[in-house]
Amino acid sequence: MPPSSQEVWTVALILKTVADYLRDKGCETPRLDAEVLLSHVLGANRVELYTGYDRPLVPVELEGYRALVKRRAAGEPAAYLVGHKEFYSLDFRVGPGVLVPRPETEFLVSAAIEEAKSRGEPLRAADIGTGSACVAVSLAVFASNCEVVATERSPVAAEFARKNVIAHDVQERVTVTEGELFEPLRRMGLAGKLAVVVSNPPYIAGSEFDSLPATVRNYEPREALVAGEGGTECHERIVKEAPDFLVPGGLLALEVGAGQFEKVAQTAGDTGFFGEPRALEDYGGIKRVFLVRRK
Ligand code: GLN
Repeated sequence: MPPSSQEVWTVALILKTVADYLRDKGCETPRLDAEVLLSHVLGANRVELYTGYDRPLVPVELEGYRALVKRRAAGEPAAYLVGHKEFYSLDFRVGPGVLVPRPETEFLVSAAIEEAKSRGEPLRAADIGTGSACVAVSLAVFASNCEVVATERSPVAAEFARKNVIAHDVQERVTVTEGELFEPLRRMGLAGKLAVVVSNPPYIAGSEFDSLPATVRNYEPREALVAGEGGTECHERIVKEAPDFLVPGGLLALEVGAGQFEKVAQTAGDTGFFGEPRALEDYGGIKRVFLVRRK
């Protein structure tokens, strides 16, 4: 309720009130979520919220917003409530059954774009476990010399991926194909043909699943989050299979969780196919991207 019956809910006042409320409810990004939900109700983008800061909300808007805030407070991810999520300055459709793109994954994308640009010539890349296709599409949009094959085992996620490819008009250069890890690439005869292999695989340890925030644990697909008991099961499979698909000098770029870099480096070293690994750190100083070149 507004502070008094004379006052009205302006954009500014309601955003502050809702952000405080969501913070109290344990939401990790309360202000962002308050803005994302209000943008959705008003049919405005977040910049327009700021330019219309003093605009009063009409009752139907207030009602719509209240309903969404209630669901967010109960745990539903904001991205599922509005049906999309911004990633690498692009907008991706998401919903139940597909992982919500995370800001830390932008480091992985930057590494892949930089590699593609420095190679210059037309090249083939693969995105293993593409989910919403946020990685594959961003790579194709920002590295126009890149053709990307994106694999995904979940039919629901693959459908989101295909929609996102079309929404960003990169269907000429991004192919979404259903199957487990590299299996579709083998079928397509791409062994030995990829300059870049990129992946943000599931990397939560099975034993850690129960301690994830409820908004993740209860809503996002477990199969997109958990990889075996130790969390690096998918990385290990990818590292072992990637040499078959990479050209000599080709880059493997994997997102890793806190403390996983060394384990993945060990597996890569054991294959005998790779040079020295490099790490990219995220904003929190965590080694977040594992980079290694095929010999
Ligand atoms: N590649 C997608 C992303 O980064 C999906 C990753 C996943 O489902 N583990 O969001």
